[in-house]
Amino acid sequence: MFHSAAVKLTLWYLAIMMAISLIFSGLLYRVSSAELERGVNHQVGYFNNFLTPDDFNNFYSLREQQLNQDKARLKTNLLVFNLLVLVSGGAASYWLARRTLAPIEDSLKSQSRFAADASHELRTPLTAIQTENEVALRNPKLTKQQATDLLKSNLEEVAKLKNLSEGLLRLANNDGRIKNPELVDLKHTLNQAVERQAKTAESKSIKISQKLVDAKTSGDPDSLTELFSILIDNAIKYSPLKTTINVELSRHGKEFQVRIKDQGQGIAATELPNIFDRFYRTDSSRSRSGGGGYGLGLAIAKKITQAHHGHINVASAPDKGSTFTVHLPAA
Ligand code: ADP
Repeated sequence: MFHSAAVKLTLWYLAIMMAISLIFSGLLYRVSSAELERGVNHQVGYFNNFLTPDDFNNFYSLREQQLNQDKARLKTNLLVFNLLVLVSGGAASYWLARRTLAPIEDSLKSQSRFAADASHELRTPLTAIQTENEVALRNPKLTKQQATDLLKSNLEEVAKLKNLSEGLLRLANNDGRIKNPELVDLKHTLNQAVERQAKTAESKSIKISQKLVDAKTSGDPDSLTELFSILIDNAIKYSPLKTTINVELSRHGKEFQVRIKDQGQGIAATELPNIFDRFYRTDSSRSRSGGGGYGLGLAIAKKITQAHHGHINVASAPDKGSTFTVHLPAA
């Protein structure tokens, strides 16, 4: 589809280029031949005064012959010039057309990849619900207890689907711009994020220790709370019981750094470059029963950070814990 669009665009560019070149060539030809004719007429008028009629006729036909030859040469030169414009313009137009279409092609490809990834992820819980219900329906002696268990399991899958669709919506809605940026108190935002995760941390006897300076950045407070919640939630999710998570907020020149450090399972060096990709889960996370998410959290975190003109990075090693650092410009 993009090849034929590129060819069509090339033809349009080329047609415009050729139209301009031909119009100017025509004008050049007219002006130049008028100039040549004027020169000949001037010479003929001049020699007419002192040449005999016979000599004048010879001179006249010679100049006319020369004039026609000059005009023919001019025509050939202009033709060659236009042929060169056609060939080089064709190549340049194709290159230009590909360049024009490349960002559109990229965005379409990423959209269809997004749709394919999303439907792939949606299929797993849907298939689980379908299979469980089909098996239950085929059992004529289904007890009340079994039916209750089935409903519970269905509800769990539905909750997962809800989480997934919310994550997808967040990724799709966040177009990389903050609509109404305001002055955000980062300390307050981090406190809120820690509060949100307090219960989950408690359930694993995980201590969250905080060391925060006063900090203000420009942005959207809800998105920033969400960003820190994702990182703290991951730190809890991928840490063993009774460990500590350190949340630190410090100033470094013109930026603030939020560091979330856990004592968890860590991430292998080979997986580190991919963890911010949509739907990416490390091998150990995929093999976990339940627990892990859909691999959307860090993709959302990265998008939110970038929308705030910041960046996020990670330092981690297996069994040595992970440290995620968010860099945000000071307001
Ligand atoms: P998920 O919802 O699966 O946690 P994320 O996008 O938040 O998805 O994270 C992607 C992957 O990065 C996770 O599957 C996990 O393997 C790894 N990961 C993220 N945070 C941590 C962490 N603090 N410790 C260890 N691994 C982590």
